[in-house]
Amino acid sequence: MIGLDEARAFVLGSCTTLSPRPVAVDDALGRVTAVAVVATEPVPPFVNSSMDGYAVRSADLAAASPEHPVRLEVVATILAGSAPDGVVGPGQAARIMTGAPLPPGADAVCMLEVCTTDAAGATVVVDGPTAEGTFVRTVGQDVAVGDTVVSAGTTLTAAHLGSLANQGAAEVVVHPRPRVGVLSTGDELVEVGLPLRPGGIRDANRHSLLALVRQEGWEAVDLGMVGDDEAAVAEVLDDAGRRCDAVLTSGGVSVGDADVVTSVLREHCGGSMRWMQVAIRPAKPFAFGLLDASATPVFGLPGNPVSAIVSFELLVRPAVRLMAGHSVLDRLTVPATVTAPLPRRSDGKVHFVRSVLSLDDSGAWSVRPLVGQESHQLSVMADANALIELPDGDGCSGGDVVRVKVIAPDRLEVVRAATGSGA
Ligand code: AMP
Ligand code: MG
Repeated sequence: MIGLDEARAFVLGSCTTLSPRPVAVDDALGRVTAVAVVATEPVPPFVNSSMDGYAVRSADLAAASPEHPVRLEVVATILAGSAPDGVVGPGQAARIMTGAPLPPGADAVCMLEVCTTDAAGATVVVDGPTAEGTFVRTVGQDVAVGDTVVSAGTTLTAAHLGSLANQGAAEVVVHPRPRVGVLSTGDELVEVGLPLRPGGIRDANRHSLLALVRQEGWEAVDLGMVGDDEAAVAEVLDDAGRRCDAVLTSGGVSVGDADVVTSVLREHCGGSMRWMQVAIRPAKPFAFGLLDASATPVFGLPGNPVSAIVSFELLVRPAVRLMAGHSVLDRLTVPATVTAPLPRRSDGKVHFVRSVLSLDDSGAWSVRPLVGQESHQLSVMADANALIELPDGDGCSGGDVVRVKVIAPDRLEVVRAATGSGA
């Protein structure tokens, strides 16, 4: 057996970041920028109002008070998208809407709520002073020409895409979305929609793995399923290597009689191939190699459905994130108090215990191990949002602080003391 760190380092050392290319801004969510984008247009592009109200000259209102309100002549109405054609002179004001350009002469905006307009809208009365610049957005207040809009190595968020659009950018140079093929192997597998035959089981892994790929924002390529047949596996991998950036297989990497994926990778990946017994539970068997023909990395995941997902989390996800240009490769790990004892025997492995992580009212993390930790119990994996990293040894007691890897950050639970133990 080798440690997880060694397996991970081997895989990361064999994968390379995909070459950057321009992609449409609307296709760039979650992608990583390869070069910085510098602003060529100021945002806002012109001085404008941040309120619906009246554009005024602050000097006119310096002495305004409830006892001595100031009446101004309304000389124009300026809507967003229009260009003002007149000047606001002394004793004058212009009705103005949010986002409309401030007319020349005006230097502040009075909120509609503090102005009293006459019935005809010809004059407005203001009963207090307004400082210069009030409710006025200046040119470049958000982004000035020459500012960095996004630096190289940024994972693009929705707001970044909006900021790029603010620059009039149609494209952005990023590391492309990895295309990841998913293949299931095993004579026992039966496609959904077909009746089960004796000894047959459903192909669950392809559906879990395709979903994990999509969840990461990568492009999923369904390579179907093949039996335990070396020629058939080799043919699919050869074709997939030409059109994918990485290929995930499940099944056939253990030490059984029909573990054909290992043999095929040994045959088709030359010296880059390594079959590993990783000192973790679940997901001990794992094979990896770069296909001779295309240099495409192939990740040979174990067949047990929970193992396939854990193997994806620990070995595939960091490596494909590296290919996608990310610098943060791993999931967040937090310390949490475990709600129940976790006895185990020493077996040289780190155990990754499917569990539910939650935050209580006092802001403390607690983690509840789920019942059903066998590697075929996919329904239990489905309930988990985290994996407890239980080091080799004799386990832990309830109340101990353990390390927990968050695998579903959008499914973290918040437990309210009043409603009891939701987790
Ligand atoms: P293997 O890694 O091929 O030895 O398979 C280990 C276990 O996982 C066996 O019980 C297989 O039947 C099961 N298995 C293999 N592939 C799949 C799959 N695609 N979906 C569900 N279970 C699978
Ligand atoms: Mg098998």
